[in-house]
Amino acid sequence: MTINTQPNTKPCPCGSNKRYDLCCGPYLNGIKKPTTAKALMKSRFTAYVFNDEEYLKKTWHPFSLPASLDLHKDKTQWQQLKILGSKKGKAIDKKGWVAFAAFYIDEKGTHGVLKEESLFVREAGQWLYHSGTQIED
Ligand SMILES: [Zn+2]
Repeated sequence: MTINTQPNTKPCPCGSNKRYDLCCGPYLNGIKKPTTAKALMKSRFTAYVFNDEEYLKKTWHPFSLPASLDLHKDKTQWQQLKILGSKKGKAIDKKGWVAFAAFYIDEKGTHGVLKEESLFVREAGQWLYHSGTQIED
């Protein structure tokens, strides 16, 4: 487990070019809640980078929440996130869509990219990951 071992002043893994403690850090630490679907998406990517299962579960809608994540067994290293586009997902919306490309290296050392359009819903002031559709090239 490598939860939040990132020094706070290092760049955030989500690719914002901001410091971790001024970007996704406060979300993962439960100090703040993301106000937009895009901010939640980025913070969940950062949680994958740090194997922060607790944060991922907390921000996962019951609709698709897996029984177990077992991230510690998953050797995928998430490298980089690129937001491809988004629809709605603002602080006043109930739903939002974010399309992204997530670059990774799998356990065999092979580089890959996951492209997905995710649906997020906002319930009781909290954005949650609902479901995703893979984007074909
Ligand atoms: Zn971030």
